[in-house]
Amino acid sequence: MRRKDREVADPGSMLEIMRQCDCCRLGLRDGDGVYIVPLNFGFCQEDDKLVLYFHGAGSGRKIELLKACPQVGFEMDTAHGLVEHETACGYSYHYASIMGTGRVSFLEDHQEKLAALGCILAHYSDRTEWEFSGETVKHTAVLRLEVTKWSCKRYE
Ligand SMILES: Cc1cc2nc3c(=O)[nH]c(=O)nc-3n(C[C@H](O)[C@H](O)[C@H](O)COP(=O)(O)OP(=O)(O)OC[C@H]3O[C@@H](n4cnc5c(N)ncnc54)[C@H](O)[C@@H]3O)c2cc1C
Repeated sequence: MRRKDREVADPGSMLEIMRQCDCCRLGLRDGDGVYIVPLNFGFCQEDDKLVLYFHGAGSGRKIELLKACPQVGFEMDTAHGLVEHETACGYSYHYASIMGTGRVSFLEDHQEKLAALGCILAHYSDRTEWEFSGETVKHTAVLRLEVTKWSCKRYE
């Protein structure tokens, strides 16, 4: 990172920033191009690995692209703040953001899907007990992104 003074390298601080983010953008390969799709997410650490979970319909453009190429990039950001100034060059913007890469797999096991959906809900709610309809879970695609590389930058 060119601006080392803005790099956040402490894993605890990086995870705290991830906790504050409410949308993760996945970057998917699409032929010679790229498809970026915003998604809600949950995250957890499994055996020293950082894992993100997503859910949604079992069909559509992102699902087809992920089946063709499970390698993805991702980005999320939070703590936005406009810095106003009387000069154009004085204007600025505060943020905290995370970028990374990883590989997506589709969860098939019912219990694994429930755990992942619980992880997503835990990111947006304090409630821990949920009931899921078996049929709905069956028809919901649950994606597991195992992070291979990630970095964090904060400008405050
Ligand atoms: C903050 C946020 C959180 C979201 N959380 C979730 C989530 O947790 N799970 C989930 O499944 N979806 C979520 N969505 C919706 C998601 O971005 C996609 O619209 C949805 O997943 C369908 O994607 P798809 O590739 O199957 O699109 P398809 O239905 O296959 O449509 C493909 C085309 O529709 C257009 N399109 C698709 N999505 C968008 C979009 N968001 N904005 C503008 N154009 C679009 C594009 O042109 C794309 O080529 C969220 C959206 C936002 C903004």
